[in-house]
Amino acid sequence: MEQAVDRRRLSAAQELAQRAGVDALLVTPGPDLTYLTGYRAIALERLTCLVLPATGDPVLVAPGLEVAAASASPLGQLGISIRGWAETDDPYGIVGELSGGAGVVALSDSMAAGAVLRLRDAMPAARQQLAGPILRELRMIKSAAEVEHLRQAGRAIDRVHEQVPELLWPGRTEREVGDDIAEAIIEAGHVTVDFVIVASGPNGASPHHELSDRRLEIGDTVVVDIGGTMPSGYCSDSTRTYAIGYAPDDFLAFYGVLQDAQRLAVESVRPDVTAESVDAVARSMIAEAGYGDRFIHRTGHGIGLETHEDPYIVEGNVELLRQGMVFSVEPGIYVSGQYGARIEDIVVVTETGVDSLNNTTHDLVVVDPAFSS
Ligand code: ZN
Ligand code: ZN
Ligand code: ZN
Repeated sequence: MEQAVDRRRLSAAQELAQRAGVDALLVTPGPDLTYLTGYRAIALERLTCLVLPATGDPVLVAPGLEVAAASASPLGQLGISIRGWAETDDPYGIVGELSGGAGVVALSDSMAAGAVLRLRDAMPAARQQLAGPILRELRMIKSAAEVEHLRQAGRAIDRVHEQVPELLWPGRTEREVGDDIAEAIIEAGHVTVDFVIVASGPNGASPHHELSDRRLEIGDTVVVDIGGTMPSGYCSDSTRTYAIGYAPDDFLAFYGVLQDAQRLAVESVRPDVTAESVDAVARSMIAEAGYGDRFIHRTGHGIGLETHEDPYIVEGNVELLRQGMVFSVEPGIYVSGQYGARIEDIVVVTETGVDSLNNTTHDLVVVDPAFSS
């Protein structure tokens, strides 16, 4: 597996920590540890924690039995020293010692509460804060290699959407369709299926509807929102809306509005515009057409090693978009009790504009029930 990790991420994190007045970053297994070291450790009850001082060398504190795995991972190739601990040692005390015991420590956002509180007890003189505000500055701006990983993820999930029409026919349940889609997600090259939403008919009005035993009917519209994680660790996420046989006329009217809103929002993406302005483009178009109160979620979220990460494309986020940011643009319109629709692409901010990582058609894909069963 190709690794995009190099020592520069660690030194960049140290620089940001210094600037933030933080003495050490403490990072347990999760996306931050993967990002900084390439080590995809499993979160266990035994403590694994990277101690990254603002100045000086990083040390990974790990259970003795995990030392071999850690040193065989990209973390070992980065030359990070590993301090194994034995079953009778106090790993929290070791982390405390290595981080100097006092000052300000920043903890990875995904650290378990149990570890947070034990670290607090091990270093009562230290002040704890979140590492997210520091590390987001790095993780939010994807390198060319990361963009390439996300592009491959986009291509993989596009291949799944291309197969979805063959799986939709009247009489099948959402769950049956969802199981087939999950299989296709793996066949397309993902290592895990992160979510499969198949929301048919009135279920489409719930943006995060889970698979149910509702059977598909002719005249249903079906929102399919799917994603997985690639061997690179990077995630895919794409939504398309389908119709079985035909779609009701009033649905077609609002679907056209949604298509325009999504396209114009994507086209508005470029460096130095705010995140909230992209949300406003989609939202104002949908509102002008009279569906404003039916677009009930933010326009998008960043994506990378996690499906949802910074930056969020939402009103109130005045962060300026920068080259290398990757996020979804996914407006939706939901009519309670009847149906819903959403179109979602992952896009990357380029030097001068935007590039879409999902490229299947945005048109409503009408499945001919005669050709399926
Ligand atoms: Zn979502
Ligand atoms: Zn999404
Ligand atoms: Zn999605």
